[in-house]
Amino acid sequence: MSLQAIKDAIASKKMICPKCNKPVQKYDKYAETIDSVREGFNLDTVQSYGARVTLICGNEGCEWKERTEYPMEYVLD
Ligand SMILES: [Zn+2]
Repeated sequence: MSLQAIKDAIASKKMICPKCNKPVQKYDKYAETIDSVREGFNLDTVQSYGARVTLICGNEGCEWKERTEYPMEYVLD
């Protein structure tokens, strides 16, 4: 899972909250794989490696949050 892909999906409003069906507004990174840590400090260099994120809906009236290693499951094609 690529962190850049998550950013892109959120920026293009393709990451959809399963609860309110609106675009997810943001994410928090809670872990990276060992491989991506080894890759260095520049987050852009880790895009071919896995990332674990907490997706946060952020839309008014919706409390949905999901900690996942598979955030692309929430992205619409
Ligand atoms: Zn929501």
